[in-house]
Amino acid sequence: MTKAEDVAFKEWLETLPEEFLACRDVRHAWGGENRFWSLQTSKYGLVRGRVLVCARCGAMKHQVMHQGIIIKSSMSYPSDYTKPAHATPGRVNSAEFRERLSLFTPIDSKAAPLPALAKMLERLKAK
Ligand SMILES: [Zn+2]
Repeated sequence: MTKAEDVAFKEWLETLPEEFLACRDVRHAWGGENRFWSLQTSKYGLVRGRVLVCARCGAMKHQVMHQGIIIKSSMSYPSDYTKPAHATPGRVNSAEFRERLSLFTPIDSKAAPLPALAKMLERLKAK
């Protein structure tokens, strides 16, 4: 990695809205209607297609299936969701997105964490 690539990555990371960071952290929230389009093909016979839409960021997953098995799939993303080509190459560790996301959702010190999380935090504090 070169420094210019790292700078480009950090600059891009700082432009990402909360919903993009959440999707990069915990993956997309696929939803929408379960609508299937049918088509007869010479190779497979009947195939069905559908489009899933992420309720958070608007990314779309296009799938074509035969007898329920996905045989083709592609994704499309909102503009600025994908990393610029000149930024740090390769797969990015989700920790960077998670850390940035935590800046959008600061801990409310008045609100107690849910019991399971409280127990985990207590155990860590004791170490
Ligand atoms: Zn998403």
